[in-house]
Amino acid sequence: MPELPEVETIRRQLAPALEGRRLEHIEVIDPRWSEPAPPEAIADALDGRAIERLGRRGKYLIMSMDDDVHLVMHLRMTGNLLLTDEEPKHTRVRMELDDGQKLLFVDVRRFGTGDVLLGSDALAEYFASRLGVEPLSPDFTAQALRAQARGRKQPVKAFLLNQERVAGVGNIYADEALFRAKIHPLRPVGTLRRAQIEALRDAVVESLHAGIDAKGASIDDYRHVDGARGSFQERFLVHLRAGKPCPRCGATIQKTRAAGRGTYVCPRCQRRPRR
Ligand SMILES: [Zn+2]
Repeated sequence: MPELPEVETIRRQLAPALEGRRLEHIEVIDPRWSEPAPPEAIADALDGRAIERLGRRGKYLIMSMDDDVHLVMHLRMTGNLLLTDEEPKHTRVRMELDDGQKLLFVDVRRFGTGDVLLGSDALAEYFASRLGVEPLSPDFTAQALRAQARGRKQPVKAFLLNQERVAGVGNIYADEALFRAKIHPLRPVGTLRRAQIEALRDAVVESLHAGIDAKGASIDDYRHVDGARGSFQERFLVHLRAGKPCPRCGATIQKTRAAGRGTYVCPRCQRRPRR
């Protein structure tokens, strides 16, 4: 599933093509994309509007239009946004721009979504109920992380994957951040010492920046807006590297399970918590 760096890569690639353009028509081909709003309601709200800004919050893309109208999109498992004339199979939404370009939401598994929100208050409310702190914002401090973690017995990896705690971190970047911070994924988050919380905060930010620098990871369906692949999968420190040497100490990286997900750790750098 695309995580924050993958969505941010798409945002950076799409913004120059969209900002300042007019959306002539949006056709929701698969009604499930905008449920419960019917496709006609989406077109009524957006057709003819000027696209002012393409933003991001966590793993959500936000197309902000004139009159304070916003289209919020989530790629979920297999969604992609492609700027192309050729329509691949599994095209769920077609957006026609005033310069003749077409932006397609393509999604094999059909879990991707689009919601129209009228006004900044509605937008803020939408995210307030879904997302915690934005990890690449100044709000993501060690102090804020410690306040969230305090008293919680939840394993730290499950904590990181919860979008209501830290927005945008998924399986790849949680593994990479915990390795960088030398913390075992099953460690109860409330037992982390102050220095470990600080290391974790820095490691999350560094891992996300590394992912953005490599234009995301294409280990499954994720593609750039022109169909190209990201390259972060070639720079993973531990994720998907079971049996290979730890880049820090040389011990053999192991695959385990945490938060219901395949999880990769260095058994020497990331000590398992004592019972
Ligand atoms: Zn190691």
